[in-house]
Amino acid sequence: MLTDLIHLFFPKYCGACSKTLTTPIDELCLACENELIFESEANCSDLKNALRGRLKIISGAYLNDYNKKEGMQKALHSIKYHKRRKLAVILAEQLAIKLGKSFFKKIDYIVPVPLHPKKMKTRGFNQCLLIAQGIRNKTSIPIVSDCLIRKEFTESQTNKNRLERWENVENAFAFKNEPSIKNKHLLLVDDVFTTGATIEACIKTIQRKILCDCSVITLAKA
Ligand SMILES: [Zn+2]
Repeated sequence: MLTDLIHLFFPKYCGACSKTLTTPIDELCLACENELIFESEANCSDLKNALRGRLKIISGAYLNDYNKKEGMQKALHSIKYHKRRKLAVILAEQLAIKLGKSFFKKIDYIVPVPLHPKKMKTRGFNQCLLIAQGIRNKTSIPIVSDCLIRKEFTESQTNKNRLERWENVENAFAFKNEPSIKNKHLLLVDDVFTTGATIEACIKTIQRKILCDCSVITLAKA
């Protein structure tokens, strides 16, 4: 009853197509849920191929290619700029279910890409941590969120080419010693994989200091 009233005065919109939702607990309308979750390819080979020659990862997966699914781009926008936190968690949970136990079998820890403290202050949350939480909810793999810090406030990557993106993030991260992750298999989590520059910078920052295996998960590939 109370949720019905709240919904009447504060209607909720689909996080991907902005259609008014009939039930206030949902994050996506049925059509978008179908497109982004049930019809997701949950691709497991592209990211590894995209990083070939630059970085060796054990495996990499994402929920959707957002050039093929416009709704995915809108969903990421809703998460970041309209604070649709639950949407990030739900999409990550569904990705974990899609990938199944075999993908996570050898992974010891989940490591979300950190946000710069300044950005954290303005946005109020780190979307990569929310995605990590969604993965953890379905796999019970612990999150280690303090082994990487973002020391440089980087400009938006949106209008940069591959080289500029790499130069922009190359030295953006620092490793904070976390002995428990040594010789372990880490799952790096980001919201979107574009050129892979951010993930590459994160993994190289960690592997410069310790030996470990790394895999990657993102909600989308651009
Ligand atoms: Zn929709």
